[in-house]
Amino acid sequence: MVGAGAAGLYASLCAARQRATVVLVSATPLAQTASYWAQGGLAATLAADDSFDLHLRDTELAGRQLVRRSAAEILVREAPDCVRDLQALGVRFDADRFGHLALGLEGGHSVRRIVHAGGSATGRRVVRQLSALVAAEPQITVLENTRAQALWTDADPTQPHDREPTRPRCRGLVCDDGRVIAARATVLASGGAAALWARTTNPPGSQGVGLQLAHAAGAALADLEMLQFHPTAVIGLRGREGFLVTEAIRGEGATLHDATGERFVDELAPRDEVSRAIHQRLAQSGQPSVGLDMRAIDPAHFPNVVAALREAGLDPTRELIPVAPAAHYMMGGIVTDLHAHSTVPGLYAVGECSCTGLHGANRLASNSLSECFVFARRAVAHALGGASNTAASKPSPPDARELQELRALPAPSVAGPDTRAALWRDAGVLRSEPGLRGLLDDPHPLARLIARCALARAESRGAHLRQDHPERDPELDHRHAVIAADGSLHWQTWE
Ligand SMILES: Cc1cc2nc3c(=O)[nH]c(=O)nc-3n(C[C@H](O)[C@H](O)[C@H](O)COP(=O)(O)OP(=O)(O)OC[C@H]3O[C@@H](n4cnc5c(N)ncnc54)[C@H](O)[C@@H]3O)c2cc1C
Repeated sequence: MVGAGAAGLYASLCAARQRATVVLVSATPLAQTASYWAQGGLAATLAADDSFDLHLRDTELAGRQLVRRSAAEILVREAPDCVRDLQALGVRFDADRFGHLALGLEGGHSVRRIVHAGGSATGRRVVRQLSALVAAEPQITVLENTRAQALWTDADPTQPHDREPTRPRCRGLVCDDGRVIAARATVLASGGAAALWARTTNPPGSQGVGLQLAHAAGAALADLEMLQFHPTAVIGLRGREGFLVTEAIRGEGATLHDATGERFVDELAPRDEVSRAIHQRLAQSGQPSVGLDMRAIDPAHFPNVVAALREAGLDPTRELIPVAPAAHYMMGGIVTDLHAHSTVPGLYAVGECSCTGLHGANRLASNSLSECFVFARRAVAHALGGASNTAASKPSPPDARELQELRALPAPSVAGPDTRAALWRDAGVLRSEPGLRGLLDDPHPLARLIARCALARAESRGAHLRQDHPERDPELDHRHAVIAADGSLHWQTWE
């Protein structure tokens, strides 16, 4: 298991429940996962006025004709049970005075369906509880401050992966301390890639390392042009640059205002719409930010947001918060089927590093934490289930020659400030061909792949806004830009 965010922790616990032996490798301390920072919560159909059809419809509407319906159906159907399982594991979600779950509202949702904890401290509460359980679980060995440096496959590591469909099987992973872990199934839960962009809401480690590891092992990636920009990230506040002000606050009535004080967008529209509207206002006014007015919001409902802003010297009960879009969530990632299985046998991807196709071109708020849990559980069931995974006995450890070759595999690249600035400038909220072409020469491999997908999608859809192709091209409805193991790009439609 690679990663100790929501997806990796929960997958580890699910596997341990089935008496599997788990090795959990985590590069960073807990507080540096996106999961720990999550504010809003998990979307799940739990309210009396909600339904499977409504949640599915909202997800598809937000995703702009790119949502893989089968994946969205699974999410909507299975998320409520994951919420109940988390409660059974001891996560205490906020409840009303009758003890019923208190459900929040966020952009793009037609009813209240966001389960939260500690107001806007959902991620922190969930991750702390799951980590405590993982630490106490004898079936799980945790290797903290350890990085997965490469995946171990059947393929000859000295040869390029250009010979599909030989489909090498994943046999485990190599850590940065030289340790090799042999595994019947390897699960990447390594998080997203939004920190590849200079302006981001994400922790610094969210640079798509899992995508690089998987692709080097022969896995297909998809939808890399689909990076969601969160509309309301703080700008210009020292020490709090990129700090996210949760959409749940807009759900409770906070409003957005331009330089003249005017409201200019439906604050509860899906994120792509709100980000685009803010971007346009900023381009017109030349200002760096618009103002988020949450003066009418009870600060007690969002204690950690209010405390963070006050620490930075701004009192949200008295003044507007300067906000602007920032890179937030990677909808694309490692291509998986509906069991979170990648295109490399024995290799699974769950959480933000995966691309189930569920979010399409624009993730519906709070569907991502739900996805972490729903698909983590599915990955484990599939990996440990017999029939679908016949070749899955634990591989024997590598011999001396193999060990030497594995340890010599290159580590994933880290994006420097130039790459991050270039992605923000050329693959930011608004993109066009000349800038994207420039990125094709970037030293970072993911920046180049992002540019290729963004160039190939010569249209505007959801989070992908092309200045030179401002309209949606119906020909590209439900077509995903897939980068195969050999690096070629082709379009796929997923059932
Ligand atoms: C500020 C913020 C607020 C958000 N709010 C919400 C919300 O309210 N609702 C919602 O649904 N979503 C929200 N999101 C998105 C959501 O939090 C993420 O999509 C989700 O938490 C991702 O979980 P994950 O387990 O996939 O990855 P992460 O939580 O990012 O965890 C990744 C893990 O992988 C480890 N790792 C990475 N590379 C390696 C390596 N090479 N070797 C070993 N370990 C490695 C990291 O150390 C980390 O432990 C928010 C995101 C942010 C940034």
